[in-house]
Amino acid sequence: MNTKWVEDELKVIKEKGLYRQLKTIETPPEPRIKIRGKELLLLSSNNYLGLASDDRLIQSATEVLQSFGVGSGGARLTTGNTIWHDQLEKRVATFKKAESALLFSSGYLANVGVLSSVAGEGDVILSDELNHASIVDGCRLSKAKTIIYHHKSMNDLEEKLRMTSVFKKKFIVTDGVFSMDGDLAPLPEIVALARKYNAYVIMDDAHGTGVLGEHGRGTAEHFNLEHEIDLVIGTFSKAVGTEGAYVAGKEVWIQYLRNKARSFIFQTAMAPSIAAATITSIDIIEQNQQLRQHLLRLGKMLRKQLKLLGFRVDDGITPIIPVIIGEAKLAVEFAKELEEQGIFAPAIRPPTVPIGQCRIRISLMASHTEEQIGEVIEVFQRVGQSLGVIQ
Ligand code: PMP
Repeated sequence: MNTKWVEDELKVIKEKGLYRQLKTIETPPEPRIKIRGKELLLLSSNNYLGLASDDRLIQSATEVLQSFGVGSGGARLTTGNTIWHDQLEKRVATFKKAESALLFSSGYLANVGVLSSVAGEGDVILSDELNHASIVDGCRLSKAKTIIYHHKSMNDLEEKLRMTSVFKKKFIVTDGVFSMDGDLAPLPEIVALARKYNAYVIMDDAHGTGVLGEHGRGTAEHFNLEHEIDLVIGTFSKAVGTEGAYVAGKEVWIQYLRNKARSFIFQTAMAPSIAAATITSIDIIEQNQQLRQHLLRLGKMLRKQLKLLGFRVDDGITPIIPVIIGEAKLAVEFAKELEEQGIFAPAIRPPTVPIGQCRIRISLMASHTEEQIGEVIEVFQRVGQSLGVIQ
């Protein structure tokens, strides 16, 4: 078959500076990694609490790996459900202070499964313009009308809600922490508008889970709004340090999703060993405030220093720190220079972020030290000056 059109499309992508390539990492996601034998400071992992290679998680996973084997061998509703899946769902529900919880194999599949099954024809979903791609795809898969509101603009959301009286059910969907900007959804205002206009609130707390709130329960805990969100979705692939995802909410919602969400029904259950490690991780997260405090302190320090140097960095409280560079080619050049000088933090380009807002997305881990933050500041200053991004 003719593949000329594929080559042409790839050429266009390359010309725009948007071609993507894999980098192969030869070590666990800890502060010092190796790529092609070269040691680099990892500054772009979602392993926020450093738990992905924690000995306690490894031990839990190993024990269950030995007793239950490697793969689950089936979907939850057929042969894949084990005591570890049941236990993890119960643990998530108590952690999230919810009536019930349901596991998915990834956050992507959770968002797609939830949105496509709760919202249908005649319904409307109001979605923040910077919501994650999996929310966007979930909206597309549902047969509901999707209306995008400007990022965190409550005036725009209200204006749009006012025009939705013709729809049967209304849903507001938002990230808790926005993945590329590291800012928080204005949850108190969203909840107030939802009550005023009789809409359900669905929040994807991929980046808030484990990171925000006194006990790491996430963005809703941070705002003291834990009982006000209809469905909270979160992934285990970031601060929790494992894989898979959850949806937490009222028992009736969970029963509905178990019967309706296609990415739950038709997906093989996560490995039992991963479920066991995830339970251990949640125990650590809930009890260990110091990890979070250290992480957030490092974030504050780095933001302040980068701003002082003249970089475009917003105020914020999360460990996601976007440094806006501008055009794609310059951002790629910046990332390349960082790597030359010992730091691994790739450039983020469209379609992940808007054109002209390409960035280095820094994400910190609790396993970083203050000395390493000092190293980051020195390298950013050198690279920023040599490429004319700062003076
Ligand atoms: N939601 C958000 C906001 C994310 O950033 C991500 C991961 N990039 C996901 C969902 C998907 O989660 P997972 O990697 O577990 O599929």
